[in-house]
Amino acid sequence: MAQTYEPVRPAKQLGFVHNNVDCIGCRACEIACKDKNGLPPGPRFRRVMQIEGGLYPDVYAYKINMSCNHCAEPACLPTCPTGAIWKRESDGIVDIDSTLCIGCRRCEAACPYGAPQWNPQAKIVQKCNMCRRNRCWP
Ligand code: SF4
Ligand code: SF4
Repeated sequence: MAQTYEPVRPAKQLGFVHNNVDCIGCRACEIACKDKNGLPPGPRFRRVMQIEGGLYPDVYAYKINMSCNHCAEPACLPTCPTGAIWKRESDGIVDIDSTLCIGCRRCEAACPYGAPQWNPQAKIVQKCNMCRRNRCWP
C-alpha cells in the first residue's frame, strides 16, 4: 500500500539549468552521467531525446534533455511501498535509498517524465540524485 505523504516544503530547491538553444544533442552529458554513476547498458539518469514529426515539407525536429525534475510534489514518492523515496528538506533533492528498494517498479510507472530507471543488473530502480553522493553536495 502507498504511504501517506505530506508534501515536503524544502528550505531551497535545487534544479538544473539547460540552454536548449546552445545544445547540439551530442549526448556527451548523458554518457558522462552514466559513467559517473557506474550504470550498465540500459538505464540513463540523464536522457537526450530526439523528437521528429510532420509531413514533408512541414517537418519538425527538436531534442529534449531531461533527468529527474526533483518535483515539488513527486508523483513517484507516495507510490513506493517501502518508503525508499524521499525529498530532502534542505535542498529539495528527491532520492531513492537503494537499500530499501525492492524493485517493484511502481515509481517508474508513476513518474510522468520517465526519470526512474530500472537497473537490470542490480534489480532495483535508481535515478538522478543531483550527484549528492558524489561530493558535489553535502
Ligand atoms: S522521479 Fe519523476 S515524479 Fe519523481 S521527482 Fe523525479 S521527475 Fe518527479
Ligand atoms: S521500485 Fe523501489 S523505489 Fe520504486 S516504488 Fe518500488 S520499492 Fe520504491
